[in-house]
Amino acid sequence: MPAAQFDYIAPTTVDEAVAALVNGGKDTRVMAGGTDLIVKIRHRMLFPTCIVNLKRIAGLDAISVDKKNGLTIGATALLADVAANKGIRRHYPTVAEAAGATANVQVRNMGTVVGNLCNASPSADNAPTLMAMGATVDIAGPSGGRSMPLDQFFQGPGVTALETGEIVIAVRVPPPPAGSGTAYHSLSQRGKLDCSAVGVGTMIVLNDDQCTDARIIVGACAPVPMRTRAAEKMLIGKRMTDTLIRQAAQTASEETSPITDVRASASYRWKMVAVLAIRALTDARQMALRKSTSK
Ligand SMILES: Cc1cc2nc3c(=O)[nH]c(=O)nc-3n(C[C@H](O)[C@H](O)[C@H](O)COP(=O)(O)OP(=O)(O)OC[C@H]3O[C@@H](n4cnc5c(N)ncnc54)[C@H](O)[C@@H]3O)c2cc1C
Repeated sequence: MPAAQFDYIAPTTVDEAVAALVNGGKDTRVMAGGTDLIVKIRHRMLFPTCIVNLKRIAGLDAISVDKKNGLTIGATALLADVAANKGIRRHYPTVAEAAGATANVQVRNMGTVVGNLCNASPSADNAPTLMAMGATVDIAGPSGGRSMPLDQFFQGPGVTALETGEIVIAVRVPPPPAGSGTAYHSLSQRGKLDCSAVGVGTMIVLNDDQCTDARIIVGACAPVPMRTRAAEKMLIGKRMTDTLIRQAAQTASEETSPITDVRASASYRWKMVAVLAIRALTDARQMALRKSTSK
């Protein structure tokens, strides 16, 4: 089979990248690490006429952790660098864990967190935690910049809210609220060689023993990573006992609409959402309690 043919542009500024996308038209694709894009081209699932590589744009790989402004992960920051970053591991440990749980070492050394989001797979391992923590994406485009909550960014499998000529330049996570705890649990058939069949990311906030906020995001069980709002509501204003966690996890499972595919059956996914939600909520509660006792 002949190799796919396309033009290749490696701009050095965001403005040049946006101009290249606008000039190239709808079959021009952005590339960060290429670990999703090149696979799809090789499998003849995508036929771009031009690829715009972001990796030569200076500063786009920046990671910053700031007490006031929170965490910023630039568009070309590698999964491996996010997983290893000391500031992220200390202040946003679940963000680092999710990046470290994505794929294998080779892919993490090429692929990016932002590419994982822009690929818009329902199973994207970085989406549930970032959504649970209230992340937003910074977007550059022909009409300037805008930002958008991550939970509005995903529109369907492989589809984002990006318009023609737009690129994501960073994902931002606000500082974790006092009393918060986070966790991410996922399952896949072949460990790190395979995308997740189910993933659950949570953030809960405790005040004394009471849960004052809860977010439970389930990956790979709906067309987009989804918030399970009924389950969240069950926790808010109550003591997070083991019984309540089990009930909320069951409700989270009932809110999802998984399909059967190569990774798992729908019925297995339903069962595993409840299991992973119990684990994630229990770990998030543990983290919140640990923080409150070490104040
Ligand atoms: C062997 C293997 C195992 C994998 N395992 C996992 C796994 O366990 N979990 C998981 O979640 N994923 C997994 N993946 C998928 C993939 O590696 C990740 O999604 C990775 O994070 C993608 O990042 P990238 O920088 O390589 O994206 P790219 O391939 O460069 O881009 C992905 C998509 O996003 C678009 N894009 C990228 N950056 C931007 C931007 N800044 N603005 C606008 N659009 C953009 C591209 O046009 C493309 O459509 C695996 C892939 C392979 C090959």
